Amino acid sequence: MRTPAAPTRVRVLVVEDDATIGRHLDTGLRGNNYLPTWSRTGAGALTEAERAPYEAVLLDLGLPDMDGLDVARRLRARFPGLLIVILTARTDDIDVIAGLDAGADDYLVKPFSLTVLLARLRAHLRRHTLASPEEEPIRLGDLLIDTAARRCTLHGREVSLRAKEFELLATLARRAGSAVSRETLMAEVWDENWFGPTKTLDVTMATLRRRLSEAADRSPSPSLLPLITTLRGHGYRLETTQPNHPPRTS
Ligand code: CA
Repeated sequence: MRTPAAPTRVRVLVVEDDATIGRHLDTGLRGNNYLPTWSRTGAGALTEAERAPYEAVLLDLGLPDMDGLDVARRLRARFPGLLIVILTARTDDIDVIAGLDAGADDYLVKPFSLTVLLARLRAHLRRHTLASPEEEPIRLGDLLIDTAARRCTLHGREVSLRAKEFELLATLARRAGSAVSRETLMAEVWDENWFGPTKTLDVTMATLRRRLSEAADRSPSPSLLPLITTLRGHGYRLETTQPNHPPRTS
């Protein structure tokens, strides 16, 4: 079973010769629980792709040693299941079409926001994993979150959650121990292109916390619930260790 201490981290190959953009991507991905490897050349990227299994590639088209389109073509031919997202400063439709023809799954035009990139990546990877074996239930304290069955249980007793409450909990649980931004939660739980007010997130978080707390109160045995910490100005973090209900003795 997957444990919160060792969540699955997705390996992403970043192919970008621009130091500022490359570092930004590397740091941003790392901070969002991905495992990035940064390659500054096309040839380096092709070698790296052979060295380790990658699930996704973020590929700049303007590389110093090769045309990014050639890199995309070679990667696609060699790794049919690889997710390839092209990063391009070229805005001509013809370049986008050429990129998709070369085997890319998607593209982002520079400058792009990290939030948008992460949302696109998640949406693609979700579709990828839908075709793979179902996600294992996540256990946090006495809480079991079964995303495949869409059930949440505490000591084996069902915790009744609305759809968005469940998705919010599951999204935090998949990244247990890591900070998850409001933007990420809005993007993943509600709509990947949401940039409006996020009051609905606060409301859903409040009802989620209340339902978990009520379930713990109803439980016949002492319950260890994961604590959801509010990170002011950022988002939330689901803690992997601390209980928000001290174990009861009755
Ligand atoms: Ca470049």
